[in-house]
Amino acid sequence: MKPKGTKLNLFGCTKQELVDLALKQGQPAFRGSQVFQWIYQKRVTAISEMSNLPLAWRDQLESECVIKMPTISRRHVSQDESIKYIFNLDDGSEVEAVYMKMTKGVTLCLSSQVGCAQDCSFCLTASMGFIRNLSCGEMVGQVFAIAQDIDLPVPFNVVMMGMGEPLLNLKNLQRMLKVLTDEHCFSLSPKRITVSTSGHARNLQKLAESEIVPRLAISLNATTDEQRDALMPVNLKWNIKELLEICRHLPLKPRERLTFEYVMIRDLNDSDADAKRLIRLVRGIRCKINLIPFNETPELNYQQSLLERIEAFHQILNQARVTNTVRWSKGRDIGAACGQLARPTSEPGAHILAV
Ligand code: SAH
Repeated sequence: MKPKGTKLNLFGCTKQELVDLALKQGQPAFRGSQVFQWIYQKRVTAISEMSNLPLAWRDQLESECVIKMPTISRRHVSQDESIKYIFNLDDGSEVEAVYMKMTKGVTLCLSSQVGCAQDCSFCLTASMGFIRNLSCGEMVGQVFAIAQDIDLPVPFNVVMMGMGEPLLNLKNLQRMLKVLTDEHCFSLSPKRITVSTSGHARNLQKLAESEIVPRLAISLNATTDEQRDALMPVNLKWNIKELLEICRHLPLKPRERLTFEYVMIRDLNDSDADAKRLIRLVRGIRCKINLIPFNETPELNYQQSLLERIEAFHQILNQARVTNTVRWSKGRDIGAACGQLARPTSEPGAHILAV
């Protein structure tokens, strides 16, 4: 809901919401669809330029609505060609998104909240605390602002792995999925969008059973509750057993797999025994595991697993035929890697991250 006295922002509305708006204002349903196309396909932000709408309705819309998205306040380009974008939001908050060139196309890593309430002890975003959820327009807007800045090839991939816990902003996330997959927007296949959660099992299930189901990733990061309680307080709510039980019964499409992320922290979760426990934990779940070498930052007292540990862990999983890849984060020189997105102190110069 919009606060009283402020204009409704049409940017971030789904097609259905615009159709409902048109109907409410005495217009036929297709007018809502036309507005959707102006905004997301023709990328027009002036209602007066929506030339196929009746003049009187354009005037009415102009007096009641705006079309506004986040603006880019700063950007940092990495040696690996990744770009970290810092966006300015209406209330003065800032969030970050990362553009990454992968071997197979482009991936955008987007934020879902300002700050984060999860308080994971190894993640820099946690130090901001939770400020607020992003609106649908603020999530979709990260993509549009990047597309205005550079030549964004379509289709591209989206990973909801920036700031925040997307499953604690489920309604807006689901609206975002509707917009990005709409044929009159980017028409992205839901398979190109990955939503990563720290482990909010109930909402994960809700998302898996909803209309548009993206790829699902779960940040597991530990193999015992003792370890995971210490790293990720969400484990006190959903422990490993409960989380994996729900994962085991998610309705996956044929050939679809879950992803488990596993951040590798030296002497903490990277032993042979951990690898063996991990194998037992995921047995029977159609999944792949992304091993993410921990990105060090001066603020946090954790270290990256040694290379030989990462390799040994990877081999133990291989021998058990558990599909896994070692994922080296991109944009490490510009504070754009996993777990480095935080307020402006994470910008280069403030401290060279690390990473
Ligand atoms: N809240 C969601 C979305 C954030 S995704 C989630 O937890 O999944 C961010 C990913 O980066 C998570 O898998 C997290 O475990 C990982 N991560 C966080 N800090 C990291 C760090 N310093 N080094 C490597 N990966 C990190």
